[in-house]
Amino acid sequence: MDRGFLFGDGVYEVFPVYNGLILGLESHLKRLQEGLDTINIVNPYDKKGWISIINELISYHQESNKQAIYLQISRGCDDDRKHTHGKLKPTVYMQSSPFKSPTKDDLLKGSDAITRDDIRWSQCDTKATSLLANIMFAQEAKNHGVEEVILIRNGIVTECSSSNLFLVKNNCIYTHPKGPYILPGITREMIIDCAKYYDIEIKEITFNKDSLMDADEVWISSSTREVVPITRIDNSPINNGKVGETWSLIYDRYQAIKSINA
Ligand code: PMP
Repeated sequence: MDRGFLFGDGVYEVFPVYNGLILGLESHLKRLQEGLDTINIVNPYDKKGWISIINELISYHQESNKQAIYLQISRGCDDDRKHTHGKLKPTVYMQSSPFKSPTKDDLLKGSDAITRDDIRWSQCDTKATSLLANIMFAQEAKNHGVEEVILIRNGIVTECSSSNLFLVKNNCIYTHPKGPYILPGITREMIIDCAKYYDIEIKEITFNKDSLMDADEVWISSSTREVVPITRIDNSPINNGKVGETWSLIYDRYQAIKSINA
């Protein structure tokens, strides 16, 4: 009778852990709090409480130097299957999975993506556990043997099924602005910082599919995938299928930040 199971009534987070240390802990906890506030669930732990539980889970899996800590908070169990609810005790579920990151040499080979209409709801900034559209897209990507599905809403490229998207044109980086149509990715924020570090211009503005296909570079980002260059979209090469130099710079800086901050 858990409402997470019955309705997808909950929020989640994924914390990347490198050598036992969480990358972007504060940002992930902040996004979690915002999600809980949006759906009116009282946070069952304070920051100290979360850090202690997450670190305990990490300590059970020390054999993995990269762990993805998945944390879900559902509204809890009810004795009725009504859509509405009273005051419930939230359910907390956590798991650690090892994850691998491809090497830079692997990434330099490039990756494929396909585009689809972004049929998701208009509150994509909430990291809700109800992910039906996202998982259907992810499965489509798997069936097509591609890395990701790039989503397009009313002609505007938003993000991907489980990652944010960047393009580079004439030495300027573009990414969709924060708001209801994208998840505010923690990796996205880190990439913006990497661009600022190099004084590369970065614009958080919308762009359409023509701009995407005409880009010098396209990348996707997420906590467990980091920054992945996309070199073919819908079977057409981007920049003749070559991985760009801006990606390489950002990738290197991201690796450096990871080792300082994690
Ligand atoms: N957009 C969507 C739809 C996602 O599911 C994710 C990953 N959970 C991201 C973007 C990237 O977010 P983050 O960088 O915080 O992992």
